[in-house]
Amino acid sequence: MSTTVIAESSNGSLHPITSQLVGAASALGGSITVICPGGIGSTDAAQISGVSKVISVEGDCFHTYDCMAWSESLSPLVEGDLILSSSSAMSREILSSIAAKKGVPVVQDVTNLAEGFSATRPIYSGKAIEEVRVPSPCAISLRPNSFEPAGGGGDAEIVTVNVSQDITVAVKQALAKAGERLDVSEADIIISGGRGMGGPSNFSHLYEVADVLGAAVGASRAAVDTWDEIPHSMQVGQTGKTVTPNLYIAVGISGAIQHLAGMRSSKYILAINKDPEAPIFGVADYGIVATWEEALPVLKGQLLEMLSS
Ligand SMILES: Cc1cc2nc3c(=O)[nH]c(=O)nc-3n(C[C@H](O)[C@H](O)[C@H](O)COP(=O)(O)OP(=O)(O)OC[C@H]3O[C@@H](n4cnc5c(N)ncnc54)[C@H](O)[C@@H]3O)c2cc1C
Repeated sequence: MSTTVIAESSNGSLHPITSQLVGAASALGGSITVICPGGIGSTDAAQISGVSKVISVEGDCFHTYDCMAWSESLSPLVEGDLILSSSSAMSREILSSIAAKKGVPVVQDVTNLAEGFSATRPIYSGKAIEEVRVPSPCAISLRPNSFEPAGGGGDAEIVTVNVSQDITVAVKQALAKAGERLDVSEADIIISGGRGMGGPSNFSHLYEVADVLGAAVGASRAAVDTWDEIPHSMQVGQTGKTVTPNLYIAVGISGAIQHLAGMRSSKYILAINKDPEAPIFGVADYGIVATWEEALPVLKGQLLEMLSS
């Protein structure tokens, strides 16, 4: 049994989900190779317990994300019975592309994985749980915070591989992405606004808090449908993105079941709503009953004070 883990990175370092991927692979036994695109986090990956080898893949195409260039570069290095990645939007895309190139089945957003491979994943916005038996070799993406992370103390060998792809596409994407903000599906912290924000220009108040926290800004469907300025890519929920950040801050969002479907698995939920009866408080770990006009400046001020002390 051998597993290749595609490492996840964030802001130039290894994302903690990588340890969870290794933890899931370790539970199945066998050798584990971690591939670090762009070489990011390869030293840290080598220190994760259970990792047999780290392949640090370097090349110009990794300076910015382009699925085609990345999967072309990574595919030849991926081998074994199982390919694991996180289920972030980017990793899902790369995993699908690699799986297609290798002609192996792919199962996304898995929350439990047993020998065989028997994979469990929520479907229909979490209303049902599906168990899939996947033949080996296969590619599986794992939902964050669903698996115990492997510990530290490893000392795996690091092999550096240089790849070079046509970077034209990557450069175009870099230009297009310049100025774009962190996507909700990649963020550890998300602050989302709903119809209660009153208008699209008021989202600037969410961006101010997001800048302090390094968070992504999301939105409810009502906000996306009502205001052209709020793009669908920001929508969280049943017909938007499913997110599992460590902290989800819902501002002026009532907490309709379709919104909850996309964010209720967040580790901590903070709700700000002027209506104490708003259903969002039913799933929130922390609640502030106030208007956002009152709450956000205080929250921002407190955060700045905390960070500067
Ligand atoms: C098939 C289907 C799929 C759907 N998919 C999605 C989806 O993916 N995502 C999604 O979000 N919705 C989805 N919806 C829509 C969903 O049912 C709700 O209509 C939507 O989530 C409501 O958005 P909201 O909470 O922003 O607005 P509202 O329900 O209008 O709530 C606004 C909230 O803001 C509060 N508020 C008002 N003013 C302030 C203020 N100044 N300060 C603080 N709080 C204030 C109010 O008390 C209220 O609770 C879907 C619906 C259907 C039928």
